[in-house]
Amino acid sequence: MKIIKAESFILHVPITPPITDAINVATHWGVTGVRLYTDEGITGYGYTGTCAQGDEMIAETIDRYYAKKLIGKDPFMVKQIWDELRYGEMHWIGRAGVTHMALAAVDIALWDIMAKASNKPLWQLLGGHKSQKIKAYNTNGGWLNWSQERLIADMSSILEEGFTAVKMKVGKPDPREDFARVQAVRRAIGDQVGLMIDVNQQWNITTAMTWGKKLEQFDLLWLEEPLNPDDIMNHRKLADELNVPIALGEHVYSKYAFRDYIHQGAVEYVQVDVTRVAGITEWLQIAGLAAAYDLPICPHVGDMGQIHQHLVASTPNAVLLEYIPWIRHIFEEPATVKDGFYVLPQMPGASTEIIPRYFEEYRVK
Ligand SMILES: [Mg+2]
Repeated sequence: MKIIKAESFILHVPITPPITDAINVATHWGVTGVRLYTDEGITGYGYTGTCAQGDEMIAETIDRYYAKKLIGKDPFMVKQIWDELRYGEMHWIGRAGVTHMALAAVDIALWDIMAKASNKPLWQLLGGHKSQKIKAYNTNGGWLNWSQERLIADMSSILEEGFTAVKMKVGKPDPREDFARVQAVRRAIGDQVGLMIDVNQQWNITTAMTWGKKLEQFDLLWLEEPLNPDDIMNHRKLADELNVPIALGEHVYSKYAFRDYIHQGAVEYVQVDVTRVAGITEWLQIAGLAAAYDLPICPHVGDMGQIHQHLVASTPNAVLLEYIPWIRHIFEEPATVKDGFYVLPQMPGASTEIIPRYFEEYRVK
């Protein structure tokens, strides 16, 4: 099988109403990626996820630098292709960020082709592990711009849908407000529901140490991205001192960076995101690394779960998967949660195939 055409796309899917965390405002989710056409009629779909900013740089990287190297290649040589693109002409300007997100889209499209050609959902091609459904936690009721009333109302309706774990954003200018909001949510949802909080890098070490200790009393499943993601040393201090596990990974781009976090004991829930680490090829290596340290993987869903459901289903140490339903309607087989658990996909591929009309409806020229 050979690739005969590579074509980038940028889709902006509206988020209603717009949401904020401590560093982002999002009115749309950017679904930016590539369709890879083959001489056997199979088309692979791969994409990364953005807050609808910078997508044109990702698409340009694909079209101008990666596409020409893909033509004529056998998709089953995915690891060789990955190396060629990773260490090709874009290596000088990027070992993370834009170039890695573009490579993620390509790599995911290649795995989509391999799974389709094998006539299996990706999780089976990778070697299935979960015989039971994947437990989901819901992030979509806990945004920073929600009033306390809305937080509690949304969390309550999420629990009624069957979820048993929820995440909320913190990182308000005054941490006392965060404390009051977490306290109110914990009271509302009761002791039996898993609760995580996400700082989105907004604190410094002093704030994190002080308020992390105060928040311990709410029995949090984890404290997410408290600090700058380059600051391994201070995450290590928090991991040592706090009785709340440290979760991070959505801004960590390579197996080497994860190795340093993991080996230094600076991360306790590994949130490796396939749309950031240049795709499935690197994700699997990081999952193996985490397994060797007996660390749980709970991916951040830049893909909104479409691809990660396959990865979690085939990874023994992946224990939980985030759920945000913003873009599921655009896919031929949307990621689906019932009674708090992902329903494993059955169609061949990586669940990345987009319904044709959405290329018209949401395309950004
Ligand atoms: Mg986060």
